[in-house]
Amino acid sequence: MTSPDPQQRPQVIVVGGGPVGLALSLELGWRGVRCLLLEQGDGTIVQPKMNEVNARTMEFCRRWGIVDDVLNCPFPADFPLDSAFVTSLFGYELGRVERPARAHQTPDPYSPYRLQASQFWFDPILQRAARSHPSVELRYRCRVDAFEQEATGVTVRLTDLESGTKQVLQTDYLVGCDGATSPVREALGIRMLGKGTISDPIHTFFRARRLLDDSGRKLATFYMLVDQEGLWGNLRIIDPASGFWRLMVDRTDGTLTPERVDREGILCRALGRAYPVEWLGVNIWHRRSLVAEHYGRGRVFIAGDAVHQLSPTGALGMNSGVGDAVDLGWKLAAVLQGWGGPNLLATYDAERQPVGLRNVGFATVMYHNNENFGGTTADLERDDAATEELRKQVGAELERVVGGEFRTIGAQLGYRYESSPICVADGTPAPPDPMETYEPTARPGSRAPHAWLADGRSTLDLSGRGFTLLRFSGSTDTSELHAATAKRGVPFSEIAVDDPAIASLYERALVLVRPDGHVAWRGDALPSDPGNILDQVTGWT
Ligand SMILES: Cc1cc2nc3c(=O)[nH]c(=O)nc-3n(C[C@H](O)[C@H](O)[C@H](O)COP(=O)(O)OP(=O)(O)OC[C@H]3O[C@@H](n4cnc5c(N)ncnc54)[C@H](O)[C@@H]3O)c2cc1C
Repeated sequence: MTSPDPQQRPQVIVVGGGPVGLALSLELGWRGVRCLLLEQGDGTIVQPKMNEVNARTMEFCRRWGIVDDVLNCPFPADFPLDSAFVTSLFGYELGRVERPARAHQTPDPYSPYRLQASQFWFDPILQRAARSHPSVELRYRCRVDAFEQEATGVTVRLTDLESGTKQVLQTDYLVGCDGATSPVREALGIRMLGKGTISDPIHTFFRARRLLDDSGRKLATFYMLVDQEGLWGNLRIIDPASGFWRLMVDRTDGTLTPERVDREGILCRALGRAYPVEWLGVNIWHRRSLVAEHYGRGRVFIAGDAVHQLSPTGALGMNSGVGDAVDLGWKLAAVLQGWGGPNLLATYDAERQPVGLRNVGFATVMYHNNENFGGTTADLERDDAATEELRKQVGAELERVVGGEFRTIGAQLGYRYESSPICVADGTPAPPDPMETYEPTARPGSRAPHAWLADGRSTLDLSGRGFTLLRFSGSTDTSELHAATAKRGVPFSEIAVDDPAIASLYERALVLVRPDGHVAWRGDALPSDPGNILDQVTGWT
């Protein structure tokens, strides 16, 4: 069977219904693009990997209209999101990085959000939101087997895994959000570059409803386990209501199989005693440090774990993939709607691959901070004054060194499209790009900074569907830019912002913000031919 009418066929086929494929479908649906997502699984999350949706992803959720769903997900609002360093769950606490419960959070000055929500809840929220757009179809239990690209489109071959029926579909663009082993990437012959596998951790999942109460431990969501061998694993409570836990052990020799894992032994070490639990599963996964050499070829793109595989330390994996989806989404929409130029789609690779390298680099450093944390070879569970003092010292060192993975506001918000061909450099020097701190800037390529407006909106709410000119000075004539956008059919609006503090944050009288919320251009006056800028930022020149 083939898809007939070009007016009806999907404009984009997304392979893979993990969080990144879902985010891309949602972004495309939000932009009115006909999109078909094909996922070989049934869409249920049995063993969640991702547990931290970061501030930048939450900002996108705000734009997609699902932020309240995420904020109100069933994870208890009054449960502290702290990470505690412990000798064992029933043992001693060495230190703690506090991250207040959602109900007690004060907004960060740099973003309206900080949050955690497990994949348990996040993926279904994305699914529902994507489906709410009439131009989006999500098809589960469908496997993409092969594709061929031609000058005018892509032919996709798939199997309906329920019926066994084979189908052939045509589309304008194909995007592989098909995970680390990405068949789409493999078919394109794109190599992954980097260190490869850096460890082979064990995951065990279990249910124990009363474990936290029984341990008497001060509440946290993440307990990092430290003994004479250093930081050897962690326990995370994923769903306090149902007592759903994950225990991760990092150091294996790479030859272990799930059947041979001594789950009772490692649980006993993690808790400091034997404790009855209901086992839900064991798996061994591969922690990698890799980035794809290219993010696509021709009409076929790849995103998410298909292009970057990084240690989850610092929670940059899915969040980087959502960033890919947002960058690619507006560009696909622009080209399909006729206002994006022939060079626009190639900038997906140019902009996102450096961010992939940056985030993989950050994650690898954070992981090595864990791995190399020697601490002490002394028994930290001894009950004497000298050991009590030692616990304090080790705890302080853990908070300082390892705790960095919970202080990543710079990594979350500070990524930028340096040297992007569609951002007009303004000659200002590139500021540092630290992981733990964030300095807002409206320099071209950066995320247009968040600030609250008098009417309660965020500056983030001012951009989205098209380009937005933020005007901080009343006297500037912008009529030529309006004419140029109308002539080219570029969706555009101009918004006057009468707030001296925000004007000073943005530093120029005029700031042109892209549909993804990054700054494309800024200046105190328009250049003589604003059409040139428009052609550059929309990929025509
Ligand atoms: C322990 C752990 C903790 C993590 N914690 C975090 C965190 O807190 N925050 C964070 O941001 N990230 C975290 N991550 C990383 C995050 O889980 C991944 O980055 C994210 O799941 C990647 O999403 P994806 O959609 O790119 O790929 P995947 O989730 O792997 O989805 C790919 C999908 O493609 C489908 N597929 C593959 N081939 C085909 C085909 N031929 N046809 C149809 N479908 C196909 C697969 O079935 C799969 O559903 C963590 C990872 C681990 C291992």
